[in-house]
Amino acid sequence: MELNKRQETILQIVKEQGPITGEAIADQLNLTRATLRPDLAILTMAGYLDARPRVGYFYTGKTGSQLLSDKINKIQVNDHQSIPVVVHESVSVYDAICTMFLEDVGTLFVVDNFSIIVGVLSRKDLLRASIGKQELTSIPVNIIMTRMPNVTYCFKEDLIIDVAKKLIEKQIDALPVVKQTDKGYEVVGRITKTNITKVLVALALDEII
Ligand code: ADP
Repeated sequence: MELNKRQETILQIVKEQGPITGEAIADQLNLTRATLRPDLAILTMAGYLDARPRVGYFYTGKTGSQLLSDKINKIQVNDHQSIPVVVHESVSVYDAICTMFLEDVGTLFVVDNFSIIVGVLSRKDLLRASIGKQELTSIPVNIIMTRMPNVTYCFKEDLIIDVAKKLIEKQIDALPVVKQTDKGYEVVGRITKTNITKVLVALALDEII
């Protein structure tokens, strides 16, 4: 994160004199406490400073890479997921291929009548079925999909870094984001390698606080 001149000055004051109250910092800069509040909030949120009630601000001493890793370890699936594309378990492989093209996704989630996840279909699952001699309009997807309980999933509160580790470990492209219901896991989102790549770019552009 790029700090502005005033934020750099505040950091210097706290480094040398902390713990120090917001009031005392404001006095030294000839500013009001209210003017200073946004800068103090940014410095605290970014992890440079910590605030203790009735004590004041102190310097955390964290390096740039520690702050970056703290930041990464707070990013949740919730803010970076995509809309899931689902097909019913009774649709044919042919229809699933059409859905994959129309919806422009690489992974389809297969659900039952209650929107509960029963399986996953990847591009290669559909390609594999297509090189056989069978009639694609008559094979239902539930014959060729990867089925529960072998589906790897995540919840919206999970950390993006844990999703990234699962994608690598299982050598897959996407995870369904699910919500527990009394009937099973309902699909509520989709998180893919593209979402993770976007997080990386957003981090580099300092768009994630
Ligand atoms: P591709 O087949 O295009 O390489 P993947 O690497 O995502 O795409 O899929 C590889 C295999 O893993 C496929 O057989 C697919 O059904 C399965 N798979 C994909 N996503 C998951 C998942 N979230 N959980 C379990 N298996 C999955």
